[in-house]
Amino acid sequence: MSTTTSTRPAAPPVSYATAITLLLRWLVVHHSTEPDQPWRTRCGCGAPLWPGACGPAGCCRSCTAPVGPRPYRLEAAALVAVAVLLVSGWTGWQLAAYAWWATGMIVLAFVDLAVMRLPHRLTAATTIGFLVLLAAEGDGTAWWRAMAAGAVLSGLFAVLAVASCGQLGWGDVALAVPVAAALGWHSWTAVYAGCLLGLGTAAVTALTMRKTGTLRAGGHLPLGPFLIAGAAAALAWQ
Ligand SMILES: [Zn+2]
Repeated sequence: MSTTTSTRPAAPPVSYATAITLLLRWLVVHHSTEPDQPWRTRCGCGAPLWPGACGPAGCCRSCTAPVGPRPYRLEAAALVAVAVLLVSGWTGWQLAAYAWWATGMIVLAFVDLAVMRLPHRLTAATTIGFLVLLAAEGDGTAWWRAMAAGAVLSGLFAVLAVASCGQLGWGDVALAVPVAAALGWHSWTAVYAGCLLGLGTAAVTALTMRKTGTLRAGGHLPLGPFLIAGAAAALAWQ
């Protein structure tokens, strides 16, 4: 029996990240609409978003109007995510689960920044994929702790959403599930650390912006990017 060995060099992880950012940009722009509007498929000039408006320059190839996240920001976030995944030491299903989680979180963060909205379909796809991939890893204790953390934090957020009369949105309540689950897979300490980091940074940023006049009274900051960044920082610390 003879075996053949491929001599083709493997693509570096950076090129995978670059290729996937086209799709991520499309997902962000597609979902960056007001709740009463249909999902976006075209630029204002009528040209389809895919693929002409999904490049890293953040503009439509037909009319050069800015479309989606600012140039190279999403790509930078994707590269940071790849770097963290590479140095995490995670392997197998766990690595696949966190790669899926990071992909969904990048899209959700940029959509929330653009339109202060966290579409449930994106959160649901991220959560289900993440939990299924983690389940394949086969650590029952960690998996149930992740589920419990997601349930506890989203339950807490649901109470706050009702009590705050809409200041905390239901998109944030839903986002609490994958954020807390990703931290809960590791430990309850990671859940506390990640949540405190996210909520604390959001509070400090809002207070600073109010003081400097960049956030007017009654204005709101999107909470999603802070929660996601806090969780990502706590995960990178693991
Ligand atoms: Zn255009």
